[in-house]
Amino acid sequence: MFDFLKKLFGWSTPAPPVKHPTPAASSPPTPVASSPPTPVASAPRSDIHEPKPAPPPAAAPQTAPAAANGATRYVIVGAGPAGVIAAETIRKLDGDGDVLVIHGDDGPPYSRMAIPYFLSGHIDEAGTHLRKAKGFYDDRRIRVQHGRVEGVAPSDGRLTLAGNQVVPFDRLLIATGSSPIRPPIEGSDLPGVHTCWTMADAANIVRLAEAGSHVVLLGAGFIGSIILESLVERRVNLTVVELGDRMVPRMMNATAGSMLKRWCESKGVNVRTSTSITRIERARDAADNRDTLAVELSDGHKLPAHLVIIAAGVSANMGFLNGSGIKTDAGILADSHLRTNHSNIFAAGDVAQGPDFSTGGYSVHAVQPTAADHGRIAAINMTGGSASFKGSLIMNVLDTVGLVSCSFGNWQGVDGGEQAERVDEAGFRYANLQFADDRLIGAITLGRTDWVGVLRGLIQTEVPLGPWKEMLMADPHRIAEAFIARVGA
Ligand SMILES: Cc1cc2nc3c(=O)[nH]c(=O)nc-3n(C[C@H](O)[C@H](O)[C@H](O)COP(=O)(O)OP(=O)(O)OC[C@H]3O[C@@H](n4cnc5c(N)ncnc54)[C@H](O)[C@@H]3O)c2cc1C
Repeated sequence: MFDFLKKLFGWSTPAPPVKHPTPAASSPPTPVASSPPTPVASAPRSDIHEPKPAPPPAAAPQTAPAAANGATRYVIVGAGPAGVIAAETIRKLDGDGDVLVIHGDDGPPYSRMAIPYFLSGHIDEAGTHLRKAKGFYDDRRIRVQHGRVEGVAPSDGRLTLAGNQVVPFDRLLIATGSSPIRPPIEGSDLPGVHTCWTMADAANIVRLAEAGSHVVLLGAGFIGSIILESLVERRVNLTVVELGDRMVPRMMNATAGSMLKRWCESKGVNVRTSTSITRIERARDAADNRDTLAVELSDGHKLPAHLVIIAAGVSANMGFLNGSGIKTDAGILADSHLRTNHSNIFAAGDVAQGPDFSTGGYSVHAVQPTAADHGRIAAINMTGGSASFKGSLIMNVLDTVGLVSCSFGNWQGVDGGEQAERVDEAGFRYANLQFADDRLIGAITLGRTDWVGVLRGLIQTEVPLGPWKEMLMADPHRIAEAFIARVGA
């Protein structure tokens, strides 16, 4: 399964070469990854899956200072997948440009998506690095500098790092990603309470999540459910607390979310839906004379915990743009070229609110495939090419203790649409297809890995299904046949 997900996400794979003015790198978002932007569970998520009908910002022409040697100064803030892919793409397209990537985390650029595999011991720390070859960045004359950006002055073509270092730029990409939300729960700042977002978080979790430890995970959304798998592999005594009435409520309907809950329970996980944490306090484990926590739930229960993990949603990292004039909403507003309202400033990845394939509006889709697409397309446009982004398709693939669940596009359906459903409760298999007229617009599956490409293809091509619509209404399991008939083998 690990290999299946790696392949699906193209994770750790360098971006394919891009030819200069590629007219439409717009291809719908790549292979989309695993889950989504799912706002996790319990807390307010302003970020993901929330289509915002914001209009593309109009870019105001800006004059940028020229570099002393005439080379274009490209500055990329953020060394996640969006930033690293953008840097690589720029280097391929502009051999002379000066490429600087600013990384706000410790260590080499890494993939947050790899953290669960680090937690479960499938990979070591080096395995999380986005690019593993020794000298990868130096060989490509990509400078990676550690630092935190605190301000951007678009008209001056400058940004400021903590410590007041000023960095000039001709073209700027903001790819600062997102950060986990910490709900205002009393005691959530105690030692033993962690988010799961950075390698530092991962190290804390590895230290505390020993076999047999009591762990409470707040949030059964996308990220929470991924972490859940790793914790099960660490053989902890796990309780998941989810405010919604089912698991992954932003990715699964009631039938699928409830089946997933039942599956997790069958694997020994205590799942408490429609529940929240009201308070966390210090306690002492008399048995092993160890500091612990007592976690108070909204249903009155109190749970012991050596570790509490908060996975309650994320929000875009854009506070340093206050006063910059760069337009933001749930993320930085970016048009189909991933350009902000300043013509030489671009945004990509979790921090960007870019085109949304499913709604035709502008959304933050905080998933790695979208970050990769954004980074590539922004880089083409930064180097003077013209590539437009057709929009990211919501596509979430999740492996929860061996059960793979997927949701695509408008999985909740649309007004006036129709749906087809097949439920196999005992076998933990489920298929739900959503149609608008005779087009497939969304789907949910459980217990299947073989339909990912087919469903994505049918949704993204928006191909009319013709007579296949009625055949799929009668038997949604014929989806692969429909794909071959309408899209081609
Ligand atoms: C545990 C976990 C599991 C995940 N699993 C999946 C999955 O299975 N599938 C999937 O599609 N997605 C998954 N994701 C989400 C995925 O990791 C993100 O969508 C992706 O990392 C976004 O890439 P990005 O480049 O936009 O931002 P990030 O990867 O978050 O990188 C942001 C960069 O910006 C830097 N930065 C932030 N603020 C500043 C600042 N002020 N100054 C300088 N630098 C700054 C950071 O240090 C970092 O270098 C997972 C995330 C987590 C945490």
